[in-house]
Order: sequence, then structure tokens, then C-alpha cells
Amino acid sequence: MIKTDVVVVGAGPCGLFQVFELGLLGLKTEIIDTLRQPGGQCTELYPDKPIYDIPAIPMCTGDELTEALLKQIEPFSAGMHYGEEVSVVERIDDELFRVETAGGKEFETRAIVIAGGVGSFQPRPIRVTDAENYAGKTLHYRVKIPQQFAGKKIAVLGGGDSALDWAVELAPAAEHLTLVHRRDEYRAAPATVDKMRALEADGAITVFEKAKATAFDGSGDAITGMTVQVTDSEPVDVEVDHVLVFFGLAPKLGPIAEWGLDINRKTINVDTEKFETSEPGIYAVGDINFYPGKKKLILCGFHEAALAAFAIKSRIEPDKKVHVQYTTTSPIMHERLGVEG
Ligand code: FAD
Repeated sequence: MIKTDVVVVGAGPCGLFQVFELGLLGLKTEIIDTLRQPGGQCTELYPDKPIYDIPAIPMCTGDELTEALLKQIEPFSAGMHYGEEVSVVERIDDELFRVETAGGKEFETRAIVIAGGVGSFQPRPIRVTDAENYAGKTLHYRVKIPQQFAGKKIAVLGGGDSALDWAVELAPAAEHLTLVHRRDEYRAAPATVDKMRALEADGAITVFEKAKATAFDGSGDAITGMTVQVTDSEPVDVEVDHVLVFFGLAPKLGPIAEWGLDINRKTINVDTEKFETSEPGIYAVGDINFYPGKKKLILCGFHEAALAAFAIKSRIEPDKKVHVQYTTTSPIMHERLGVEG
């Protein structure tokens, strides 16, 4: 059980800036994200695209904004938990909450900020009859233990970076690898496509393009075969032990909908003084919240994070008055930031 002042759910730009604002007020934070990297939409959907409306930064990419935010929060040594979806949020008493991730991590916290954006990014599932029977056993949406595929017949479905990175990495140790892609052009990095072509030329990979997997064969949770339909051709049966599906990630509100909050379609209603939800002690900032006039912009989320931090400080330390202090001149802020005044 990790004990902390605040758990921030979501490490998109608003969640990261929330850590900064809480840190300035002397509060300890743990931040959790389903994705394996921080940055939310910025790194998942547009890492190389330029953003022009971050105050005082004329232009930065999604990746650059994330790196700058990570640098900015460094002094506060927040606990970072990536690849972990927050599944349970429970009130212990008036002061404390219990937060649990799907991977089994537990937190005891005095406040929660939901910065879940458009939801938790989940792998897009394959729509083939009975696919769910094999999921997690011989049908995989992520690779946890690459060694389990050594000496096996593997199929990789998809044409993006994840699909080709894993195809290239797993093919040399596999008995054989079949790559199935619905187009004949790839979204993956050209260098990885070249490596895949070299493995194809060596006979380590068989490639089906303009193709899709239309059926699985197997017994229990073990896949033994897959039918591949190439456009304008007869279906082909391929022997496989494991199928790896990389159709990209799509956001889903997911478990947040089950935490008893006042939900407005896919957003959480908050007030505009504290950005508190219908549950005292649980706050929401960034794209996930809703209030009259809400705009889903990063700079609006930054403002919300600042006000939520003040509200949380007042909640946790009700006897102390929380004064606004300038980072320029405040010795206590300099100490928290680890800088010379
Ligand atoms: P997100 O960035 O969505 O991050 C939320 C995070 O929460 C995700 O990483 C998700 O995995 C995680 N999460 C959700 N649920 C859970 C859970 N249960 N457990 C653990 N983690 C969870 N905005 C601008 O201001 N300027 C722009 O120029 C701009 N350009 C854009 C271009 C594109 C193509 C897109 C798609 C968006 C753009 N935006 C822009 C919008 C901007 O990216 C969003 O406003 C911003 O990302 C919202 O930040 P956030 O931190 O609220 O949420």
C-alpha cells in the first residue's frame, strides 16, 4: 500500500502539470497511467505535430511539451506508475481514499485528481468470432514476455510501429512468423519496414498484404490455425500457436464511469472554483471534466490544475490559510523547487 497526499489518474499534459501545482504547495503525488509512457494524447496521438497555443511557447511538438513538463515536475519526485490502469476508487472514510490498479497496485490517498482525458487508451480488439476465448492466452494485444514466443508459430496482425517492431524482434527466435496487414503500405518507420522485408527475403516472415484474419481455429484457449483472406483471392489457412494483434489504441472512459461520480456523457461534472466532482475530495481536470464554457484545450487544463491544487491543499490542511506565493520571490517555493533564491 503506497500512502500519499494525492493520486493523479492520467499522465497527460494536465495530469503532469497537476503534479507541479501540487508540488509547489508541498503535496506529495503519485501519478498513474494506462499507457506505458507519459503525455496522454500528445505522445499517443500526435508526438511530432506542432502545438502553437501553449502560453509563451511559440511552437513545440507533443513529445517536446511532454518532455518539458516532465523536466518541470522533476523537483517533486512524484511516484510514476505507467502501464497501470486505475480500476477501483473507494472512499475509506471522510479523509481517505483507496485506489487500486488493474495490475494490483494499491494506494491510500487523501485526495484524487482525475486527469483521464478522453479516457483510458485500450488496444482496439479484433472482430473475429470467438476471438475473446483465446484473449490473454494465445491471442495477445501486448507483449509481456517476449520469450514465450520463441520456437512458436506466430502471427502478427497490423501495419503500424508496434506490429512491425514486434514482427522484426520476434521473427528470429520464432519457428515462423506470419504478418497480416490490411494495406500494402505501412505506417511503421521506414527503417523497420526495411528490416521486415529483409526477414521476408530470408524466409523468416511470410507477409500477407491487403489481407485480414477472418477466423481462428483451436480448442479451449489454444489457437491452432487462422484463416487469412487476401482481397480478390481464395482464403488461406495458416498454422499458428499465438496471434498478436496491433490495431492501435482507442480511448474509452472505462472504469472511471463506475466510481459513482456525476457523469455527463463521457465527462465528469465539476465546479469552477475547486474543480471538485460530486464526491468531495475527488477532483477532475483537463479534457475529462465538464462545466459551462468548458474548452478542451491544454492551457485550460493547466488553469484548472492550479485551482484544484489550492482546493486540495485547503481540504488536506483545513486549519492553514493557503496564500498565493510567487515562484519568483517565495523562499519556501524555492526550497520545494530545489533552486537558489
Ligand atoms: P489526455 O491527454 O487525454 O491524457 C489522459 C490520460 O489519462 C491518458 O494517457 C489515459 O491513458 C489516462 N487514463 C484515462 N483513464 C485512466 C485510468 N482509468 N487509469 C489510468 N490512466 C487513465 N490542445 C491544445 O491545447 N492545442 C493543440 O494544438 C492541440 N492539438 C491537438 C491535436 C490533436 C491531433 C489532438 C487529438 C488533440 C489536440 N489537442 C490540442 C487537445 C489536447 O491534446 C488535449 O486537450 C489534452 O491532451 C488533454 O490533456 P489531459 O491531460 O486532460 O488528457
